[in-house]
Amino acid sequence: MKETKVVLPDREIPRQWYNIMADMPNLPKPPLHPGTKQPIGPGDLSVIFPMALIGQEVSTERWIDIPEEVLDIYTLWRPAPLFRAHRLEKALGTSAKIYYKYEGVSPAGSHKPNTSIPQAYYNKQAGIKRIATETGAGQWGSSMALAGSLFGLEVTVYMVRVSYNQKPYRRIAMETWGATVHPSPSTVTNSGRKILEADPECPGSLGIAISEAVEDAATHNDTNYALGSVLNHVLIHQSVIGLEAKKQFELIGGSPDIIIGSCGGGSNLAGISFPFLRDKIHGKELRVIAVEPTSCPTLTKGEFRYDFGDTAGLTPLLMMYTLGHDFMPPGIHAGGLRYHADAPLLCQLYHDGLIEAVACGQTAVFDAAVKFARSEGIIPAPESAHAIVTAIDEAVKSKEEGKEKTILFSLSGHGYLDLTAYADYLSGKLEDYVYPDEMIKESLARLPVIG
Ligand SMILES: *Cc1c(COP(=O)(O)O)cnc(C)c1O
Repeated sequence: MKETKVVLPDREIPRQWYNIMADMPNLPKPPLHPGTKQPIGPGDLSVIFPMALIGQEVSTERWIDIPEEVLDIYTLWRPAPLFRAHRLEKALGTSAKIYYKYEGVSPAGSHKPNTSIPQAYYNKQAGIKRIATETGAGQWGSSMALAGSLFGLEVTVYMVRVSYNQKPYRRIAMETWGATVHPSPSTVTNSGRKILEADPECPGSLGIAISEAVEDAATHNDTNYALGSVLNHVLIHQSVIGLEAKKQFELIGGSPDIIIGSCGGGSNLAGISFPFLRDKIHGKELRVIAVEPTSCPTLTKGEFRYDFGDTAGLTPLLMMYTLGHDFMPPGIHAGGLRYHADAPLLCQLYHDGLIEAVACGQTAVFDAAVKFARSEGIIPAPESAHAIVTAIDEAVKSKEEGKEKTILFSLSGHGYLDLTAYADYLSGKLEDYVYPDEMIKESLARLPVIG
């Protein structure tokens, strides 16, 4: 009987996270204060983050212990299974071996609880009572709501208004886990009210929702902020994905030649690839590919420079590939891939040539998603389907070149709360959108000038 999945017992959950800052050839440039434009210190961040997470943010230690309480909750769904996509391989007639690490087994249905759980834990330890955060389509908000319910923390979520109105299911999930959800821009914060005054019909954006959540946290003593991607500590927590995958490949023998992940802020790709990238940095051959939508092409069309993390310019300036902090991405279905920039760690590695990037249009993405659903069974999240389309492309190339490549991709979540997107695809309503170069130029012209 051929093996389809590799499942590790609970005791094989990694006890430490991996921090790529110990191995990168060049560390990212430091975050700058939004006002003074000078490097920030730990004190600047302590208004909205607990010291333990600030420590991880600046740590260059290779291994960071995972607290017992976090491991205990990780066992609810971790270790996550590694699948061999036998049926997809057959459908493609490829000689490549295709594997996927499935993160849709978490209670929230994506990889995001890998970081919301430790973030809730460290905030609880620091005596914090409430977390304020933002969410686009709802994946991060629901992951934080889940973590809040498991640790007894209140959670307030600013949810991008279009999603709040059009996608009620994740909002209902958040409320079921006990969170309070506001449509953003909201009337609860100054930044929200200001935007609504100028444009009462504003559909919202992730950048605006971040401004609201940061303001909420900064103006309440018992409240901190939590971010679901981009920051160093988030990427560290997500390393459990790749560390498990490494163990799973050790069990079956072999190792991936190509690792692929969708890239919104970069956390699932970093999670699955960084533990393997460590070997590439030390000479092993490996390709790592970030896949982004053509409608939000941060790595493939953005510029590598300092930018704010939010629209209002409240967050520190980070060195990132960015489309500009007031970039308004069109309403594509992969809501989790609409952020205007990417994680500084991932950007630095991309800049140094250790990671590649490609952009895909959403019709190709859904063609691949449906092909996957009809061969492997799982209906993937539209975000994850970006990794699938590229895995299929690479498998087909491998066939044409007569090579037997081993491909690993991150199936970062399931799509059972994204069925409206599938309905649109199946009825031929999806359109490709390539973000116009002139508009990218315009928003980049509004970036802060440093030095
Ligand atoms: C949020 C999300 C992403 C994109 O975020 P990254 O930080 O780039 O991982 C991808 N897939 C799913 C299922 C998500 O929920």
